[in-house]
Amino acid sequence: MPQIINLANDTPTLLGVNMIVGDGLCSNIYVVGRERATIIDTGVGNRQNPVWPQLKELGVEPRNVERIIITHAHHDHAMGAFLILEKAKPKVYVHEDDAGFIASSLGDSLVKVREGDVIETELWPLEVIWTPGHTKGGMCLYAREQRILFSGDTAFPDGYFGRFDGDTGSLDHLVESLRKLIKIKVDVMLAGHGVPVLSKAEENLKLSLRNAELYF
Ligand SMILES: [Zn+2]
Repeated sequence: MPQIINLANDTPTLLGVNMIVGDGLCSNIYVVGRERATIIDTGVGNRQNPVWPQLKELGVEPRNVERIIITHAHHDHAMGAFLILEKAKPKVYVHEDDAGFIASSLGDSLVKVREGDVIETELWPLEVIWTPGHTKGGMCLYAREQRILFSGDTAFPDGYFGRFDGDTGSLDHLVESLRKLIKIKVDVMLAGHGVPVLSKAEENLKLSLRNAELYF
């Protein structure tokens, strides 16, 4: 069963944020808040990653799931949304440039967002930072005051960065996106895969940028 990590145990600014660690080829799932929870990425939605048992363990019932945010429309991040939609009625936020890939399956739940939009959550507002490169409509979510970045598959721990060889991927765009990310103040980075970066995430982002630039 996927492991649950209460991120507040190590970092007080993450009070109310839990991480469901992806098992196998599955994204991490972040649960922000509990009464009116926002779920950032939903995993692959297979038998190893059933989502609901973990949400229940966190005290999140179907009526508590207010919204889902999908950082990009790859199946290992997005398919779990359909498991959630079987029992709950959240809005599902996707960047407009990735929405086409799942729009028809989401129907009325879909909310398209773009650069600069602000998504309210139970804990703090999240700004949409458009970060194309891994996919055209990839995005990061940024809690400015708390300096928390949900980096999707754009930047990973240890200076890694997302693949750019997919259908709508682009190394040029990925480098531009990482250049955008090093301009903001980030202490904590919570990526689509891998462990949380709980301090000095700016240095991690600079390393990711440097490594991506070296690809040229
Ligand atoms: Zn991906």
